[in-house]
Amino acid sequence: MVGLAAQKDFPIFSHLIHGHPLVYLDSGASAQKPRCVLEAMTRFYETDYANIHRGVHELSQRATARYDEGRRAVQRFLNAAHDDEIVFTSGATEALNLVAASWGRTFLNAGDEIILTQLEHHANIVPWQLLRDQVGFTLRIAPLQPNGDVLLDDVTALINEKTKLVSVAHVSNALGTVLPVEAIIAAAHERGIPVLIDGSQAVSHGAVDVQKLDADFYVFSGHKIYGPTGIGVLYGKRALLATMPPYQGGGDMIESVTFEKTTYQAPPLRFEAGTPPIAEVVGLTAALAYVTGIGMEAIAAHEAALLAYGTKKLAALEGVRLVGTAPHKASILSFVVEGVHPHDVGTILDQQGLAIRAGHHCAQPAMEALGLMATVRASLGLYNTREDLDALVDGLKKVREIFS
Ligand code: PLP
Repeated sequence: MVGLAAQKDFPIFSHLIHGHPLVYLDSGASAQKPRCVLEAMTRFYETDYANIHRGVHELSQRATARYDEGRRAVQRFLNAAHDDEIVFTSGATEALNLVAASWGRTFLNAGDEIILTQLEHHANIVPWQLLRDQVGFTLRIAPLQPNGDVLLDDVTALINEKTKLVSVAHVSNALGTVLPVEAIIAAAHERGIPVLIDGSQAVSHGAVDVQKLDADFYVFSGHKIYGPTGIGVLYGKRALLATMPPYQGGGDMIESVTFEKTTYQAPPLRFEAGTPPIAEVVGLTAALAYVTGIGMEAIAAHEAALLAYGTKKLAALEGVRLVGTAPHKASILSFVVEGVHPHDVGTILDQQGLAIRAGHHCAQPAMEALGLMATVRASLGLYNTREDLDALVDGLKKVREIFS
């Protein structure tokens, strides 16, 4: 079930916001949680909880089994070839930092180049800059078109003998642009260059198959796919993860420790130092079961229809300009209202129970390329309806009235 019927699965929709029914159009920042996720985590804490891996007792074994089951659930969800290609992190941000700190520090040298695009989230820019400042490689940036698109040719034109990595978003969080990642990966692989895909805004909107994409790394956060905060995923091809040194040291990631020499576990445990987010893995497992139960194709079709509807409505609204109108988009409507600061738009809409986001969306280079400081962003989830978009349009009319 999607749309209004799905709202029954989400307790948050039974609460009023400023006396109005909630119209939640901020799933791109974080999605709401279905009852099954909340219950799975509560039940786990109430009946099966203990620390994992280190215990011989019943609860520790049960918790370990749930954690391992979560890894297999993510493997199935991404269609990864092996469950040991799934590393649990605290989120997409940590997954990106992990690749930069471990793979990047090992394989990138002064004079090398890595390719990003102008629409990347800061999480796929700053970790590379931090490393660049220490190592001395160069960031090459594929430009954004005025309509928010990134062209395959503009990415491939940057590939040369110095290129060591291409790291790009699957879907832009600021504009909703879907990048031609399959073709980018194929072009990079022709030159033997690995590709990292930031799937943070993609996984909740349609099926992702990392083997079909042939992605070398793929990252996402649990909280954007109806799971809890504090859990994320790094998918990495087995052969690549095997070449990477530990990223953090601590418990659980070692085979043996002496003061003279420490040896490490194989991936993925090598990258999961310390007590991991155990209940969050249980929550993510429930979230993935929930979305796959509905069907990723059904979710994608529902959101595509809503996006088309919302795009038409907003385009017809006087004084509203859509930002990001690339031909291939997913679930995000970014726009500006003539003469009104996006934060004022957000505040007025909030008073009517509408949750949207206003700002640079952690994509300042994209905003700058488009000559903007900020936009208003309505982002869709499986529970949204046409009525939500009608409410947005009514809210924007009020904004215009107030500022006229
Ligand atoms: N990448 C993209 C495209 C995003 O939209 C986000 C979050 O908005 C991130 C990375 C970072 O995700 P998180 O803050 O959950 O680590």
